[in-house]
Amino acid sequence: MRTLEAAQAAVLDAMAVLPAQPATLREARGLVLAEDVTAPHDVPPFANSAMDGYAVRAADVATVPVMLEVIEDVPAGSLPTRAVEAGMAIKIMTGAPMPDGADAVVKVEDTDAGSKTVEIRVAATAGTAVRPAGGDIAAGSEVFAVGTRLTAPHLGVLASIGVAFPKVRRRPTVSILSTGDELVPPDTGKLAVGKIRDTNRPTLQATLEDLGAVVVDYGIVPDDAEVLNKTLGHAARNGDVVVTSGGVSMGEYDLIKQELASLGTVEFWQVAMQPAKPFAFGSLGGTPLFGLPGNPVSVFVAFEQFLRPALLHMMGATRLFRPRRAAVAGEEIRTDPAKTVFVRAAVARDGDRLVAMPSGGQQSNVLTALALADAFIVVPVGRGTVESGQPVELEYFRHPEDRTREEALGG
Ligand code: AMP
Ligand code: MG
Repeated sequence: MRTLEAAQAAVLDAMAVLPAQPATLREARGLVLAEDVTAPHDVPPFANSAMDGYAVRAADVATVPVMLEVIEDVPAGSLPTRAVEAGMAIKIMTGAPMPDGADAVVKVEDTDAGSKTVEIRVAATAGTAVRPAGGDIAAGSEVFAVGTRLTAPHLGVLASIGVAFPKVRRRPTVSILSTGDELVPPDTGKLAVGKIRDTNRPTLQATLEDLGAVVVDYGIVPDDAEVLNKTLGHAARNGDVVVTSGGVSMGEYDLIKQELASLGTVEFWQVAMQPAKPFAFGSLGGTPLFGLPGNPVSVFVAFEQFLRPALLHMMGATRLFRPRRAAVAGEEIRTDPAKTVFVRAAVARDGDRLVAMPSGGQQSNVLTALALADAFIVVPVGRGTVESGQPVELEYFRHPEDRTREEALGG
């Protein structure tokens, strides 16, 4: 059986990076730059005022109070027509270009706010309240490296330098399906005895779309070799990746491995981890297939450990894996030392340390404990039992919950 790390490396090795194309800033959200971005011009593009006030010569206002003659008024978007000479000032608004001759701005609060003459009441030195050209980004400098995943602030920076159509790798198309004769759609009215609602497709759809993938849904497929074979063929032709759930354990009706072998190749089908030990990975005529286990928690863990890094790699990202943080265990945790174990945990702050508390039952069908968790405690192979209070490593899969009004602002 493969270790988690060996299985992750094999998965990454099998993933091809998707082609790149220019996209609008709106389309590019969550996608990954396919080339380095260099600034074509300075940001700010010209020296401008950081305050509403008066552009002055610092030498004139070294000793205060002092009266200056106001020769012009420059709102943002207008240009000064005159230069500031000794004894003069130009009334200037935030963002307006600095006039020639001026090297400082005195904010209006530090003056008598006059319009023909102004009394300067607070001294300024050269550069005070001036935003120099290129102070944020210098023309010609590298702004973002290839492999950067674009979030809202990145998109704002690209807009500021006029890179309105960044070259990004396209979204992966992911075909998903659930297998199992026991499954019925989530909106089924009354459950017949022996049936359960398909919980894996909604989970997968959400995680995949959060990542930026386009999901093609092949629905619930019965445990029937012929139907499964046909559906897998369609799914592989129409997707960059195929993701199935269920049918990868040791039972008689666990058909994924068999059909994968008949249509393509099985790379491996078990990983020394918990949950998600039965996990089949292979290729359907060149399309990678991720055969996730059926249990809903295993589906999520396998998504996090295999699919997420694999899709980010396809999208061209440099950073593929979730952040890890040091914490302490809030209670004793017993795990199988032969496996990498992912313990669903709610994380709380205790002074300057983080305490991770298992968030409920840890069987792989207990999805509620996952919904209550912020992170996995990752217990590595060889560790076994973790005592309460011992250090552990956390892998966050979401930001801890937003705070309520009372938590943020007080009762
Ligand atoms: P399997 O790997 O097909 O034997 O499935 C393992 C367990 O997960 C069984 O208890 C299945 O009923 C359950 N399961 C499989 N697929 C789903 C699904 N889509 N939604 C909820 N439970 C599932
Ligand atoms: Mg099944």
